[in-house]
Amino acid sequence: MIFGSGTLSSLRAEVERVGRARVLVLSGPALLGAAERVRELLGPYAVASFGDAAMHTPVEVTARALDLLHANAADCLLAVGGGSTIGLSKALALRTELPQIVVPTTYAGSELTPILGQTSNGVKSTLRSDVVLPRTVVYDVDLTLGLPVALSVVSAGNALAHAVEALYAPDTTDRTSRPARTAIAAIARALPVVASNPRDVAARTALLSAARDAGACLGAVRMGLHHKLCHVLGGSFGLPHAETHTVVLPHVIAYNAPAVPEPMREIALALGASSAAAGVYDLTSSLGAPTSLRDLGLSEADVPAAAQLATEGEYPNPRHPTAADLEQLLHHAWLGTRPA
Ligand code: NAD
Repeated sequence: MIFGSGTLSSLRAEVERVGRARVLVLSGPALLGAAERVRELLGPYAVASFGDAAMHTPVEVTARALDLLHANAADCLLAVGGGSTIGLSKALALRTELPQIVVPTTYAGSELTPILGQTSNGVKSTLRSDVVLPRTVVYDVDLTLGLPVALSVVSAGNALAHAVEALYAPDTTDRTSRPARTAIAAIARALPVVASNPRDVAARTALLSAARDAGACLGAVRMGLHHKLCHVLGGSFGLPHAETHTVVLPHVIAYNAPAVPEPMREIALALGASSAAAGVYDLTSSLGAPTSLRDLGLSEADVPAAAQLATEGEYPNPRHPTAADLEQLLHHAWLGTRPA
């Protein structure tokens, strides 16, 4: 793992370190310029580029990238982008076992997890496999300076969610709870600075470092109700990933709070707030983040079905919700009410 500013310049050496010489460069439409710069830095090692990564890793997009990979006999994947581009890289690694070098440009944390979500015929399924874990992660703060404020706020909300659920995960240890607490406090300090000055390098550095630690928590411990709800809302109702995390998190915290008072006290303390749920809500909403699932496009009529879907499957959580509990929670999130 490499972290800093200007670290893109280490990519060529990293390709050599993994012993490969035919790199497929992956990106999404917003980062074609960065992908071009990576190609220049790699010189002859870059054999092809694919710039069409899309949210939720549709298998048709993966198939197109796979064709390009084979046509160019690529032997290494290099992804520059957010969770969508890293998801594409993981999907290709799953099919080819090629090593991945990834350069994350959002705060989603996918680069540090062995988790891959893919969408086929509108259905999202998730798998865990060490084959999809990137070999090398290069964090370059410079690439995050241009992440628009609105995306920065909701992506940081996504990172907050990993850290919050790590604090009450059944398998949490000091090795995850300490960085989780530190990440929450760092996000609370740095995010308002980034929102008012997106090119503040110190605040961007603090935010990316916190997102890295939160991503490590996501990869290390089992996530609970919050991640389950967001998976359902994204996978079955097409809601956008980071925005959904940001809207839902305060409501899950409010629901779980009675069962885990100590982690909640720690979260509130890290946020400098009197309650964990209100603290998270105030932090992101004061910086312009959406607050309601209604605004993200969920129909009120879909709330009961989403609640029912979220009761299915096994996941750890401090409280064991019924469909009626989840319907109430989601209704609050749909309205966007501020939790106490
Ligand atoms: P994203 O990758 O879709 O990026 C959001 C938007 O921001 C895109 O339009 C992108 O092009 C743009 N963008 C990204 N970085 C930018 C930058 N530095 N400057 C300007 N624009 C930039 O969004 P995301 O929230 O990072 O990732 C969401 C996806 O990742 C979802 O599919 C989600 O399921 C997945 N994910 C997976 C894991 C995992 O562990 N498997 C973890 C988190 C997210």
